Amino acid sequence: MLLGIPGTIGGAIKMNAGAYGKEMKDIVYSTLILDYSGGTHKLNLSEHKFEYRKSIFASEKYIILESTLKLKKGRKSEIENRMKEYAKLRMEKQPYDKPSAGSTFKRGEDFITAKLIDECGLKGKKIGGAKVSEKHAGFIVNDGNATASDILKLIEHVKSTVYDKTGKNIELEIEVIGEK
Ligand SMILES: Cc1cc2nc3c(=O)[nH]c(=O)nc-3n(C[C@H](O)[C@H](O)[C@H](O)COP(=O)(O)OP(=O)(O)OC[C@H]3O[C@@H](n4cnc5c(N)ncnc54)[C@H](O)[C@@H]3O)c2cc1C
Repeated sequence: MLLGIPGTIGGAIKMNAGAYGKEMKDIVYSTLILDYSGGTHKLNLSEHKFEYRKSIFASEKYIILESTLKLKKGRKSEIENRMKEYAKLRMEKQPYDKPSAGSTFKRGEDFITAKLIDECGLKGKKIGGAKVSEKHAGFIVNDGNATASDILKLIEHVKSTVYDKTGKNIELEIEVIGEK
């Protein structure tokens, strides 16, 4: 499930990262955290408050020190085959030829965000070096020298166009940090 998702265990737990029907919440057993007064605590599964691409770490500024994962034993050959299958799906459907921060927008509750963006005619839309991927409309890619400002402008353009044309609010999956 984590194959092809770049990052660390800390980032994956905070974002409840996942793909193809499985998320970190399905494999985390406990996590050791450091709070801002310097204390350490162990969180059990329910204390992580996992939701879609969200966890307690969105509101509590704890630092994840280590995590215990519970993994199922499986046959090596079957696991390797599944990994190959997922890698193939990713390469076919996602724009791995261009830099990106992954899927820019969250899946909608009653709609497929990438499909909506595509139906609004936004595939291939460019602002500066930022572009809505032609391969997967849910990704904004760096098509060459994109600045953070290009990416943010394109995100706003996509959100407002989708809202104007469909009345749907699409939410960011990526986290924007620093000055806008
Ligand atoms: C090509 C590509 C494909 C991707 N595909 C997927 C996908 O299929 N599914 C998916 O869920 N995500 C996907 N992502 C997004 C991303 O890889 C995941 O969200 C990943 O889990 C982020 O991990 P990171 O270590 O890079 O965290 P960062 O992006 O560096 O940080 C994410 C957040 O976690 C916090 N954080 C990081 N470490 C700690 C820590 N130790 N303690 C407390 N907070 C911490 C950061 O402060 C930040 O708020 C993709 C990204 C790319 C570029």
